[in-house]
Amino acid sequence: MINSHAHLDFDNMNTIAQNAVVVVPSIGKQNWQDVQMYPYFSFGIHPWFIEHHSQQDLNRLEYLIKCNNPIAVGECGLDYTKDIDKKTQLHFFTFQLSMAEKYDLPVVIHAVKSTEDVIFLLKKYPKVKGEIHGFSGSEEQAQLLTRMGFYLGFGMQITNQKSTRIRQIAKNCPLEFILIETDDHTNPDDLSLVAQTIADLKQTSVENVITQCDNNAIKLFNLE
Ligand SMILES: [Zn+2]
Repeated sequence: MINSHAHLDFDNMNTIAQNAVVVVPSIGKQNWQDVQMYPYFSFGIHPWFIEHHSQQDLNRLEYLIKCNNPIAVGECGLDYTKDIDKKTQLHFFTFQLSMAEKYDLPVVIHAVKSTEDVIFLLKKYPKVKGEIHGFSGSEEQAQLLTRMGFYLGFGMQITNQKSTRIRQIAKNCPLEFILIETDDHTNPDDLSLVAQTIADLKQTSVENVITQCDNNAIKLFNLE
């Protein structure tokens, strides 16, 4: 079972996911080194940390992308719930989209209250494919993104019965466009709960969900 997005290098992770294939995204220069301990990692600058980064860091990011074989660019994106300058967020995000285009890599996107702008920017990079991890947009945006060939990542949030809106979106999203993840949840082994929830929502078997989501991750991230 492939965990498409888990920050295994974070201090609060109490489990190294056993027998699992995990994509470990970086959040900025603070963990570009650490994520390389894992077989599958990505290089990027998360919108929460852009203010600690300069143009020089963006240049270094490009150098790492070029030389160290990440499977994706990210985690990058836009987060409009944070008090972080929008212009700067847009600059860092578009730079990373252009890196994904230049080096022909998928992009791992963090989008919170910003999905409309993310879609607007993605249309400017039609060759770039990727995923919106921890999807939190609307049903219409979910449909639009999957039509554009983007994958949607769902995590522990959908296991909460009260998350009716996002559960409905996961239920309606074609399984061919779903990735499962645990993000910063402290126990990456709980991925099986996410898979089971999607199986329940879609009234299919958990084996079917895992097989399809694994294939999606293999295809998007070009895993071996
Ligand atoms: Zn993340």
